[in-house]
Amino acid sequence: MMYDHILVRYGELTLKGANRKMFVNKLRSNVKQALVPLQGYTVKANRDRMYIEVTPEADIEEMMRRISKVFGVKSISPVMKIEKDLEVAKAQASDFAEAYGEGESFKIDVKRSDKQFPYDTYQLQRILGGAVLEHNPQVHVNVRQPDHIIKTEVRLDAIYIYDRVIEGAGGLPVGTGGKTLLMLSGGIDSPVAGMEIMRRGVTIEAIHFHSPPFTSEKAKEKVIELTRILAEHVGPIKLHIVPFTEVQKQINKVVHERYTMTSTRRMMMRIADKVVHQIGADAIVNGENLGQVASQTLKSMYAINHVTTTPVLRPLLTLDKEDIVIKAKEYGTFETSIQPFEDCCTIFTPKNPVTEPDFEKVEKYEGVFDFSEMIQRAVDNVETIEINKNYQSQKDKDTETLMQDLF
Ligand code: ATP
Ligand code: MG
Repeated sequence: MMYDHILVRYGELTLKGANRKMFVNKLRSNVKQALVPLQGYTVKANRDRMYIEVTPEADIEEMMRRISKVFGVKSISPVMKIEKDLEVAKAQASDFAEAYGEGESFKIDVKRSDKQFPYDTYQLQRILGGAVLEHNPQVHVNVRQPDHIIKTEVRLDAIYIYDRVIEGAGGLPVGTGGKTLLMLSGGIDSPVAGMEIMRRGVTIEAIHFHSPPFTSEKAKEKVIELTRILAEHVGPIKLHIVPFTEVQKQINKVVHERYTMTSTRRMMMRIADKVVHQIGADAIVNGENLGQVASQTLKSMYAINHVTTTPVLRPLLTLDKEDIVIKAKEYGTFETSIQPFEDCCTIFTPKNPVTEPDFEKVEKYEGVFDFSEMIQRAVDNVETIEINKNYQSQKDKDTETLMQDLF
C-alpha cells in the first residue's frame, strides 16, 4: 500500500493558548530531529495534529518507527489524502481491503467535520462498506469486533483515509519541562529512569562515574550505547564521564568497609550536584528503587541525600523489579543493560554493607579527609561527549574505516 501522509496525533496536549503553541513547536522540532537524516518529507504541524507529507521514495515504515518513539506523540497512522469525491473514496477503501485475509472482517468508521459534504456519516458508511464488499468477496462486515477499521475523515481540505493506528510513546514533548542530570550506570534501572523522566517532557544530560582500571573501557562503551538509545527519543544527549578512581580509592582508605557503599554514593551525589549547577539543571535523577538492595533502604537514601539540597528524582522508586524489566524491554535498553560489564560500584562493593547506615557515622568516617579538592578535580576532568541516535564510538568508526580500506 502506498501512503502519501503520516498523521501524528498529540498526547496530553490539554494546554491552551501560548503554552499549547510552545508544546506543538517543540514536538514538531523533536519529530524533525528524529527523522534526520531520512529524506522525502515535509512536516506540517497545526494546533491539534501533525501531517507529514511523504514522497513515494520515502521509507515510511522507518519514519513511523522513529516518530513513534518521540515523547508527546499519542499515535500515528499512515494515511491517504484524497479528493473529496465519493468515487475516489470508494476506490481507496476497496484498495485497503485488498490486503485483508480470507474470512476477515472490517468496518468503516466515518468522521465528518465538513458538514457541507453532500453525504452524511451514515450514508458514507454504507456506501463505502458496499464498495469494499463488492471488490473484496473474501471479507465481511463486523461492526462490533472488526479485524480492520477503515477510518475515513471528511475534513474541510480533503478526505483522509487509513486503516492502521500505531501507538506512540505518549507523555509530553521533551524540552517543555526543564532540565535534569541523570545518574546513568550500566544497569537496568537508570536508563529506564531516564526514559520515564524524559517522557514527562524533561530534558536530560547524563553523568557516569568511571573508575579505570577497575572498570573497563567496555563498561564505558555500554553507557555510551545506553545514552544513544535514550537519544533515539530526543535530540543529542550530553554524557559527562567522571574519572572516579581517585575518589573511590580514598573512600576505601578512610571509610569503614561496611560504609564504603554509602560513602561512594554520597561522593557521587556531591559531584553530580556540582555538575547540576554547571549545566543549569534543576534536579538529579537516579534509578533508585525502594528496598531493592542495601543502598536503597530509606535510611540509606537519607544518608546519601544528606549531601545536597538539589531535588533528587527517583521515577522508579515504587515499581516492582519485574515492571522495571518490562519497561526496559519496551524502551529497548534491556539487552544492553544485561551485558556483563562491571560498574564502579560492583567492584568496590563490600561483602556486608550496612543496610541502615547512620549518616552521622558515615560523616565521621569521611571527616578524617577533606574530599572537596578531590571532588573538584573529578569535576574539572570530566569528559563530555555529545551523543545522538546515530552515534558511533571511535572504535566502531576505526573498524569501519579499516574494512573500507580492505575491500
Ligand atoms: P541500576 O540498574 O540503575 O544500576 P541498581 O539497582 O543497580 O540500579 P545501584 O547500583 O544501587 O542500583 O545504583 C543506584 C543508582 O545510582 C543507579 O540507578 C544510578 O542512578 C546511580 N549509579 C550507580 N552507579 C553509577 C555510576 N557508576 N554512574 C552513574 N550513576 C550511578
Ligand atoms: Mg547498578
